[in-house]
Amino acid sequence: MQNIIYQNSIYILENMPVIIDALDKNGNFILWNKEAERVTGYTKEEILNNPDAFKLLYPDDEYRNYVLNLIPKLENNFRNLETTITCKDGTKKIISWSNVSSLYPIEGLTRWTVGVDITKRKVAEESLKNITSELLSIIKAFPDLYFRISSDTTIIDFKTYNKTDLFVEPENIIGNKITEILPQDVALLYESAIEYVLKTKKIKSIEYSLPFKKQKQYFEARLVYLNEKEVMAVVRNITEKKLIEIKNLNQQMKYKSFFDYSPDILLEADLYSGYIFVANPTFYKLTKLNKDELENYTIYSLFDIEDKVTQKSSIDSLLDGKPIKFETKLVNNVNEEYYLELNIMPILENNLLERIFIYAKDITDSKKLEESRRKIKELEEYENIRSEFFANISHEFRTPLNIILGSIQLLELYLKNNKIVDENHTLQRYNKSIKQNCYRLLRLVNNLIDITKVSAGYMQLNLCECNIVSLVEDIVQSVADYINSKNIEITFDTEIEEKIIRCDKDKIERIILNLLSNAIKFTPEGGKIFVNITDLDEYTCISVKDTGIGIPKDKQDIIFERFSQVNKSLSREREGSGLGLNIVKSFVEMHGGEIKLISEEGKGSEFIILLPNNLEKDVYKDINPLNNFNNVERISIEFSDIYF
Ligand code: ADP
Repeated sequence: MQNIIYQNSIYILENMPVIIDALDKNGNFILWNKEAERVTGYTKEEILNNPDAFKLLYPDDEYRNYVLNLIPKLENNFRNLETTITCKDGTKKIISWSNVSSLYPIEGLTRWTVGVDITKRKVAEESLKNITSELLSIIKAFPDLYFRISSDTTIIDFKTYNKTDLFVEPENIIGNKITEILPQDVALLYESAIEYVLKTKKIKSIEYSLPFKKQKQYFEARLVYLNEKEVMAVVRNITEKKLIEIKNLNQQMKYKSFFDYSPDILLEADLYSGYIFVANPTFYKLTKLNKDELENYTIYSLFDIEDKVTQKSSIDSLLDGKPIKFETKLVNNVNEEYYLELNIMPILENNLLERIFIYAKDITDSKKLEESRRKIKELEEYENIRSEFFANISHEFRTPLNIILGSIQLLELYLKNNKIVDENHTLQRYNKSIKQNCYRLLRLVNNLIDITKVSAGYMQLNLCECNIVSLVEDIVQSVADYINSKNIEITFDTEIEEKIIRCDKDKIERIILNLLSNAIKFTPEGGKIFVNITDLDEYTCISVKDTGIGIPKDKQDIIFERFSQVNKSLSREREGSGLGLNIVKSFVEMHGGEIKLISEEGKGSEFIILLPNNLEKDVYKDINPLNNFNNVERISIEFSDIYF
């Protein structure tokens, strides 16, 4: 029975896929299994019970003696004892021997040993070791920082050529964890990169900066898998590169914001095809195009400049590196027109001219301004021609009118002297009517001439120092009869007896007569007219007030404008040309004064004139203001709109 177990055990050992041998007390082999035969090339016959078997397997005397000395010393329980055996064909193989015979005793086999051929693994391990150390020595030769870091982030080894790149003292590096020597944010970066590299065996790059005393330094670390417990970090100082990058980026950002926010069009285009490479937002805004449509357009299809740009002189200038400038018009998709000033600059690459940079300024506003200035000038010229025409025609009217008036006066004289028979006074009546209408025409002509003179700046004041109170009073006196005959009461009242001011008597007379004529025209019978003079500190105030029809609020501003009348209908009740108040206002303003109107429709109107009280030395003094007044003719003219 026992024999059967032994036989079976031997059978198993014989066929195991590992080397199994056994020695007897004398040190001779009593077991040499099939795997032992295969690995060594020595057969059972050559090994079993051969006292020289050890000589075959360990031909080197010294090594054999070492092995033979070792064997008796070894207990019957050892693992992974490595020996190098020499095979039959002379090759050497490393066998890892383990003896567990004390744990698994087999009768008759006191010392059996298991051997595994680990030659290949050993070679692989060795070459790996060589490769790693070669790699490390290569890496150590690089001008970079190098760290070996264990999986718990402890630094095992490091090397540097540039001590200034070290964030901590070199003696504080090895044995410390990354968290202990680097700022927290950087250490965190390292920790997660180490974890990633160990997990994936891939290379991981990280970038970070460290606050060195002098200047912030930038680093790039590449973490490489060494083995399941170690990672290598190759760290490069990239400060210089980074600073240039930051500078470039800043520069780019600056240019980009200039490009994006420029109120002018900026384009880069191909000189010959006109194809647009880049365009800024202003371009899209003005052209009303969107980015996808850009490829359908060229600078030449958008702006009418192809002939100008491609002519020889332009190309020569561009080749010389000089910009060229044109004005052009852009009509966009929605028919908006823009005037542009195009500045075309060459982009020369290796002296080759292919691309151009266009800077197009929107000059629409200034163009329009120029246009409107031109129109205004045209209008001014036209206005001058018109004024001149008015002046000429007015003068032309005046001559025949004066002749008619002269003839009538002669007729009047004849009638008066009874040289003409006028039984029913018919002739006298007609004469009066002809005369009044001549005066009306004369007034119109005078007003027209004055207005033209005022607007052309030719009207001048003939200033003198005179008593304004008596001047106004005389005028009122001289028309009092006319007014009374219209059944209107006129009252003159003054706060002061005398006030010497600087004024043009003729103009003051025209002003007052005009205002009185209006007051009569627009005041029904039974109404009242008041002329008042008051002395204000800086001004003399003359008020002409009536109890007439008044002026509606909305018309009060416009009545001082040329040709303006409140009632413009053809069937007007009252005569007039709408020139009077305009002339009054101009004359008052020429004196440095002001005219104001207070009026309520249906109740009456009050025109207030403020004349400045200042006196100037270089004006002549009017010695006799009273006798200087050739009133009849002038009153007749100014009052010619009124039928007495
Ligand atoms: P016109 O020769 O037509 O009187 P004016 O320039 O003197 O021209 O006056 C302009 C208009 O102002 C008049 O047509 C009239 O409608 C209004 N107006 C002027 N003075 C008075 C007034 N005292 N009362 C009412 N309306 C007046």
